[in-house]
Amino acid sequence: MPVKNRFAELHAEITGWRRDLHENPEILFETHRTSALVAEKLKEFGCDEIVTGLGRTGVVGVIKGRQTGSGKVVGLRADMDALPIHEATGLDYASKTPGAMHACGHDGHTAMLLGAAKYLSETRNFDGTVVVIFQPAEEGGGGGREMCEDGMMERFGIQEVYGMHNWPGQPLGSFAIRPGAFFAATDQYEITVVGRGGHAAKPHQTVDPVVVAAQIVTALQSISSRNSDPADPIVVSVTSIESSSKAFNVIPARVHLKGTMRTMSKENREMGEARIKALAASTAEAFGGTAEVRWIAGYPSMVNSEAQTAFAADVAEAVSGACEREAPITMGGEDFAYMLEERPGAYILVGNGPSADVHNPEYNFNDEAIPAGCSWWAEIAERRMPLT
Ligand SMILES: [Zn+2]
Ligand SMILES: [Zn+2]
Repeated sequence: MPVKNRFAELHAEITGWRRDLHENPEILFETHRTSALVAEKLKEFGCDEIVTGLGRTGVVGVIKGRQTGSGKVVGLRADMDALPIHEATGLDYASKTPGAMHACGHDGHTAMLLGAAKYLSETRNFDGTVVVIFQPAEEGGGGGREMCEDGMMERFGIQEVYGMHNWPGQPLGSFAIRPGAFFAATDQYEITVVGRGGHAAKPHQTVDPVVVAAQIVTALQSISSRNSDPADPIVVSVTSIESSSKAFNVIPARVHLKGTMRTMSKENREMGEARIKALAASTAEAFGGTAEVRWIAGYPSMVNSEAQTAFAADVAEAVSGACEREAPITMGGEDFAYMLEERPGAYILVGNGPSADVHNPEYNFNDEAIPAGCSWWAEIAERRMPLT
């Protein structure tokens, strides 16, 4: 079964919504215009219930099928937020807000889910209920977590959830997915190394925190090479080193390190945190200083459920004729992880073709992926809850 014909008819309209969203990007929870627009469209489509203000600026729409006797409720989720990047695409519908840009394609995700909502509201060819979920603050703010904390799953009786992201470099409109851990847990840490400052010509009278910090940076590399199962990936990166002195001839009193840790398994996540803390503290102690670690827990790893992933892949294959079922893992993070912690479901990638990568100022969502993306959403609903 190829893409649904209705989406060929709606393609220009959905593209129009997408470009309007692209021109008006909003960051994190500040998706006020976007949320209002989504709610207005859902109302226009005739959704049975529309709820705003979940997870601060999230929006939910409920679409009941022609039949509802099955009692099934399927959640379909898109993200709405943009990034603090200054757009450099030169498009005629480029961002009108300096320093904000839809550089991750969430404009495309929102437009595609709106397109599916329009079709599903028109046709209602399913036995059950579709809940369309539009979340803010995917890019680091935890908007999905906040919608869950507001009781979204229970309130709407959602039983399964499905999400989608466009993927640059993957053939246009093709799909890729994998069961199990797919995206990484993304934790951050700050290490403050405290020594004793002094004159750079009299190092013996100091405890040089620069030397201690350098030893810590090197020691942290042993976590992935010596502590982790080689088959279970972990990334420990130090991304910032800052000393309390800006002079050439002063040994500073403190050095501040920042970094990120990416893990796929719970075991590595716990092990990595413990090792970073232990290596920092004991290395500093060995050199006569101290180190304090501030741990900032991020998104958990995003784990696709087996059965829902197989189903989502079957639907993708039917829609586009191409679905990679064992896609490589990514060490990037994804807030949909919280929804998958609460309910079984699956997250799929749709090809954006040979575009600039996401989070690049030259990136743009490819509107030619719209029919495939919309068809996947619609088919998930219709096949998961078939009419009898
Ligand atoms: Zn992103
Ligand atoms: Zn994204």
